[in-house]
Amino acid sequence: MRTIVVIGGGAAGMFAAVHAARSGASVVLVEKNEKLGKKIYITGKGRCNLTNHSTRDELLEAVTGRRSRFLYSAFSRWDAEDTIRFFEDAGLRLKEERGRRMFPVSDHASDVTAALAGQLKTAGVKILLETEAVSLTTGAEGALTGVRVRSCRSGRDQILPANACIIATGGLSYPSTGSTGDGYRFAGETGHTINPLSPSLVPMDTDESWTRELQGLTLKNVGVRFKLGTKTVYAEEIGELLFTHFGISGPAVLSASSVLSGKLYPNGYPADKTGSKMTDAGVQVEIDLKPALTHDELDKRVLRELAAHHRQDFVNAIRGLFPKKLVPVMVRLSGIDPAKKADQISAKERSRFVDLTKHLTFTATALRGWSEAVITHGGVDTGQLDPKTMESKITPGLYFAGEVIDVDALTGGFNLQIAWSTGYAAGTAAAEDS
Ligand SMILES: Cc1cc2nc3c(=O)[nH]c(=O)nc-3n(C[C@H](O)[C@H](O)[C@H](O)COP(=O)(O)OP(=O)(O)OC[C@H]3O[C@@H](n4cnc5c(N)ncnc54)[C@H](O)[C@@H]3O)c2cc1C
Repeated sequence: MRTIVVIGGGAAGMFAAVHAARSGASVVLVEKNEKLGKKIYITGKGRCNLTNHSTRDELLEAVTGRRSRFLYSAFSRWDAEDTIRFFEDAGLRLKEERGRRMFPVSDHASDVTAALAGQLKTAGVKILLETEAVSLTTGAEGALTGVRVRSCRSGRDQILPANACIIATGGLSYPSTGSTGDGYRFAGETGHTINPLSPSLVPMDTDESWTRELQGLTLKNVGVRFKLGTKTVYAEEIGELLFTHFGISGPAVLSASSVLSGKLYPNGYPADKTGSKMTDAGVQVEIDLKPALTHDELDKRVLRELAAHHRQDFVNAIRGLFPKKLVPVMVRLSGIDPAKKADQISAKERSRFVDLTKHLTFTATALRGWSEAVITHGGVDTGQLDPKTMESKITPGLYFAGEVIDVDALTGGFNLQIAWSTGYAAGTAAAEDS
């Protein structure tokens, strides 16, 4: 019987361990935390959006950049339907929400971990908690022989012999959950390339102080555009963003960060946050506050508003156009005297105001750091892994699964689906390897 050591008891590691054991291997799962799946508890704001009810091709579309090709085989063998069936067979009832996001009916992420823990037990996986993998052991010609682990309590080391090892240690995001990048070290020590690492699905710092005056304001149904120089790198016709005490967050910002992360930090995110400024010029963020109206239509709308309140000060006359918090900021940015009477506003001033409303522009200066990032961009180079099995092409018997691999996707349950699909591929292949 083959013996497999899985390093990391997160989503990918637990899934790989269950499927390796179901395929007949003797499996040991090593987790340095005191419990399994610590990150799962905080996913989906504690509700765990465990997959997206999409077809294989739709899953591939949600993957950032060209890396989606690498996942073709893994998604073909284990897709969202398989994930849904797996959890329902494990006794977890699921529900579908907006954007085909799947959640447990209970709204408790802990139920997802409990379902996985139940399957680990049924499959006969041996679990070593509070046990940290410290290095891989190799024999003649670099063949994998086992894993050196250390008890977090006693500090004592032991070597777990293994025919195969699956590295599922996660990335660098939310390091408090245990993902501290150990897998990159193991991969590097065995000759693998680690592509530059940067935080993704993460909020952004902004430059202009007025953005922080808007703290707490959510803008829904606005056009959002992120520009590097003159080039638009990400745009949503109808999006949502949120102003915070440091800058911006919300769905459109997180999605934009996944496109910007690799572009802005081609050498990886600096260890020192002060060096995290994206570029000297920053990224221009442009908001269209009235995306449903053309410039002319909006001009007519503003004119109507001014006519209806012609005796009022400008600042009061335009109150109906924007959320309350935004009104004084818009007036200030327009350069129009707030006390000027509505019927005194010139056509030129009005046009400037319409322009501002269609192109409210400010600068994003940096992506926030690892402690706020949902996912890691970069990781073990996919070119060195077999896309069918997740086995290393450099070290036979060594497999990778989950966030440690250089693949990441948009929000919506896609990142956990990557963990399930790559975990399944690695677990079954490691058990069957001859
Ligand atoms: C706030 C937040 C919300 C999220 N929400 C969602 C969501 O709703 N839907 C979605 O699809 N994705 C979501 N994600 C992303 C998702 O959580 C990750 O894609 C997924 O957890 C990656 O799984 P993994 O098993 O590869 O890594 P991890 O979950 O990070 O697991 C790695 C495990 O390995 C252990 N480990 C590390 N090094 C060692 C070592 N040397 N020895 C032993 N053990 C070790 C760690 O302790 C950890 O338990 C969210 C992420 C965050 C941070």
